[in-house]
Amino acid sequence: MAETYRRKMTAYEEVNWQYNKAADLLAIPDQYKSILRNCYRELKVQIPLRRDNGKLEEYFGFRVQHNGARGPYKGGIRYHPSVNLDEVRALASLMTWKTALVDIPFGGAKGGVNCDPHSMSENELQVLTRTFTRKIDMCLGIYRDIPAPDVNTDAKVMAWMMDEYGRKNGYTPAIVTGKPIALGGSQGRQSATGLGVFYITQRACRDFKIPLTGARVVIQGFGNVGSFSAEYLQKGGAKIIAVADEAGGLINKDGLNVAALIRHTKERKGITGFTEADVLPKEHIFTVPCDILIPAALNGVITDQNVETIQAKIIIEGANNPINPHADHILKERGIPVVPDILANAGGVTVSYFEWTQNLQQFYWDEKEVQHKLEAKMDRAYTEVWEMAAKHNVPLRMAAFMVAIRRVYEAVQLRGI
Ligand code: NAD
Repeated sequence: MAETYRRKMTAYEEVNWQYNKAADLLAIPDQYKSILRNCYRELKVQIPLRRDNGKLEEYFGFRVQHNGARGPYKGGIRYHPSVNLDEVRALASLMTWKTALVDIPFGGAKGGVNCDPHSMSENELQVLTRTFTRKIDMCLGIYRDIPAPDVNTDAKVMAWMMDEYGRKNGYTPAIVTGKPIALGGSQGRQSATGLGVFYITQRACRDFKIPLTGARVVIQGFGNVGSFSAEYLQKGGAKIIAVADEAGGLINKDGLNVAALIRHTKERKGITGFTEADVLPKEHIFTVPCDILIPAALNGVITDQNVETIQAKIIIEGANNPINPHADHILKERGIPVVPDILANAGGVTVSYFEWTQNLQQFYWDEKEVQHKLEAKMDRAYTEVWEMAAKHNVPLRMAAFMVAIRRVYEAVQLRGI
């Protein structure tokens, strides 16, 4: 184990490190272990883009389908300069385990384009999105592969994808989830990941005996996941004392006014300039003493280099794969429990499943019904993870992988593979 830690792993190797350990604990036979670990299909496409200033630029887009034994491939689309095939593979694999863990009838996929959307006009983003959609069109389908929003993509991007796909295939709202409500999106989808983070935090705090009322919460990332998590946790009685985004950080030991900060973030496209808090260098976010720490930005942010600075009682992974295996091991030794991504942030894909279902049946639910169904799904998944952890005396991440792998293994076997 120590040997592997000495070498820096790629994101996909990190996910597979956890997967391999869990598959071994379940005694999955070697040939199946490899079939479940590897990706089914990987598509890389070229996206030439004529910028508004006339300059021609070249980007690359990816769609990786990891495992579809339990249903159509499902996973978000990310726009970020660091997007690459390895990272997309890692995130696609996590989606397989996440959809299996919350027991929704999907497989796992992920996609992305290696662009910097902050430097693009709305027109450029729309052209890029439509070109990308056309180029991956052959592997999409309402019963084949259904994209959703992820980092730097939102309902508007999903609307463009749906429209572009529909030009060739006709009216197909179920082709993407996370759409605007007016185009067939689901009530409660936008806030679903943050609400799921809240439900899971509530359960975990109860089990680890951390009172949620008055709990000090620190959040990295104040986009979709970070801001809704903050809002629900504050409503639940916690105090959000520090947040950071790409540009900087904020700290207020008495608790930030989350509603005001969300308004500010919408207007100013970031948290910078918010006056009801002190400025915190964004690198210091993992040094702030707190009860609950929520990484909700990018993957690979907590490593052996900074893990010792963390002074939290529990970590809830809002982001995907934010902690590398070495740091994960150190946190375990330090007795800081980690609620893993595939459980904590599964609320988004769960309500995506509800959106897809509503699109297929062309009958829509109100927000209360969506949230009620979400809570039931998250609650059941949490209980299964907790019981697996207790039975095998393993950390929650291992237990979550075990519950998920067992389900996918069963589906693969039943298909006669
Ligand atoms: P987003 O684009 O809405 O927000 C990302 C946030 O992270 C922004 O505030 C950005 O400024 C911040 N950020 C980026 N780099 C940073 C850095 N170096 N330091 C501090 N902050 C930084 O994205 P999102 O949808 O909120 O996704 C966040 C994470 O949650 C990702 O890992 C994503 O895969 C995961 N996730 C998202 C969903 C969803 O429904 N949106 C569901 C499950 C998991």
